[in-house]
Amino acid sequence: MSSVHRSMANSLYLKHGLSLWCPHSTSLNRIHHHPSSISSRSYVVASSSSFANENREFVIVGGGNSAGYAARTFVEHGMANGKLCIVSKEAYAPYERPALTKAYLFPPDKKPARLPGFHTCVGSGGERQTPEWYKEKGIEVFFIIKNNLCCTEDPVTAIDIEKQTLTTNSGKLLKYGSLIVATGCTASRFPEKIGGNLPGVHYIRDVADADSLISSLEKAQKVVVVGGGYIGMEIAAAAVGWKLDTTIIFPENHLLQRLFTPSLAQKYEELYQQNGVKFLKGVSIKNLEVGSDGCVAAVKLENGTTIEADTIVIGIGAKPAVSPFETLPLNTTVGGIQVDGQFRTSVPGIFAIGDVAAFPLKMYGRIARVEHVDHARRSAQHCVKALLSSQTDTYDYLPHFYSRVFEYEGSPRKVWWQFFGDNVGDTVEIGNFDPKIATFWIDSGKLKGVLLESGSPEEFQLLPKLARSQPFVDKAKLESASSVETALQIARSSLQVDATV
Ligand SMILES: Cc1cc2nc3c(=O)[nH]c(=O)nc-3n(C[C@H](O)[C@H](O)[C@H](O)COP(=O)(O)OP(=O)(O)OC[C@H]3O[C@@H](n4cnc5c(N)ncnc54)[C@H](O)[C@@H]3O)c2cc1C
Repeated sequence: MSSVHRSMANSLYLKHGLSLWCPHSTSLNRIHHHPSSISSRSYVVASSSSFANENREFVIVGGGNSAGYAARTFVEHGMANGKLCIVSKEAYAPYERPALTKAYLFPPDKKPARLPGFHTCVGSGGERQTPEWYKEKGIEVFFIIKNNLCCTEDPVTAIDIEKQTLTTNSGKLLKYGSLIVATGCTASRFPEKIGGNLPGVHYIRDVADADSLISSLEKAQKVVVVGGGYIGMEIAAAAVGWKLDTTIIFPENHLLQRLFTPSLAQKYEELYQQNGVKFLKGVSIKNLEVGSDGCVAAVKLENGTTIEADTIVIGIGAKPAVSPFETLPLNTTVGGIQVDGQFRTSVPGIFAIGDVAAFPLKMYGRIARVEHVDHARRSAQHCVKALLSSQTDTYDYLPHFYSRVFEYEGSPRKVWWQFFGDNVGDTVEIGNFDPKIATFWIDSGKLKGVLLESGSPEEFQLLPKLARSQPFVDKAKLESASSVETALQIARSSLQVDATV
């Protein structure tokens, strides 16, 4: 075995029967393209045995949602085999991350989702890209290192832009022709000095985090969820599904303050309360208290109140994982790596996609960073198409967020809302949440955003058309709608009116 193969074999990690693979040159029918035959924007590198990767034409750093969809797009263009390498610090091939706070946390007797069930690209109806899929497609993968039964993350820790190389924590040197940074976000943490690292305190970003939370839930009695965003909402819904005493704490006045109106939030809060979730709103946390066993035992609020808890989940947001790419141009307003409408950074041959990319949100004429899976998927596809073909279209993203909770078998009420567009202007709310409700955002007479709970597939399909077209709507007429169906019909007809003008 050559030294290259030996070091690559070390990068393989076997866990729960998972076998990740990297190619052996003898088993691959490699096709070497002349640079001009692939793209003016990809930089082909000379071969050298001093690099750990054999596939050097395209390297993706990060093995999450956007990496999985990018890999599929390389395959669709016939440009993966022997050319594409993925470097991730996770133990698993890319998967649909949103599942981690949804079906992954179903109570143990309600058939929780487990890998390989939700590898990308199943979330958009695509093929399930298991580790074998990467092997079949000739994609080289570097994941967690396994040495003497101990597992070590091996993230990329340095980049040399001049030499077009990356270095990993363990010292592997990787060469790239074109580089796609797809490092996502890291969960924001409580500082250690206020108990943020105590045993029993959880953050959730990857499968390892979710597994750790599950092992706490198995013996938990009192769970506190910190944060009233969608992650906090999903975890609180999951915890009561496990029949655990669950309290959700956040400083805002209501759930999902960034999107929900107070009235809409109230409906969801009532549903959560019916399911047993207790709320502490408008409060700040002073610190997390340690018990005599060294584990977390309580949450202490600034107002002096103490809430007992043996399991605490912090869902207070995330930060773009820009390290070690700080030498690339960063966006100081929204954070992340600045890219153009084709996900190119200003450094030739380097791209950024998904949560970490600060990109022009063409529809609204502003720079945005979007931490949602729909953007992760679409940005990956757009970037790879632009890299491999003559496509020069500017990415034209329509913001789309969703959440699903209480979906386990036997749940008295399943919840699935979707939002498209921009939540600006006045709102019109229609429906009584039994089960449907819709909120329309109207700005200067135009329909800018729409949220729908428990819609039919046809109704959900209408939402992006409305948010994309931004038709003028008769607000008074919309307000007088007697049902969600009628309101959507009114909105649909304003689309038709706009089309005839
Ligand atoms: C628990 C959870 C639930 C979610 N639910 C929803 C939802 O309901 N709806 C929705 O729209 N969105 C949801 N999201 C957001 C969505 O999952 C993300 O927007 C999406 O995963 C972003 O894809 P990405 O590829 O940019 O980043 P990620 O999927 O986070 O992947 C980043 C990858 O890069 C790796 N990495 C980071 N740094 C390095 C490094 N230096 N070297 C090597 N590898 C590195 C990470 O380990 C990870 O594998 C959820 C996110 C989480 C965490």
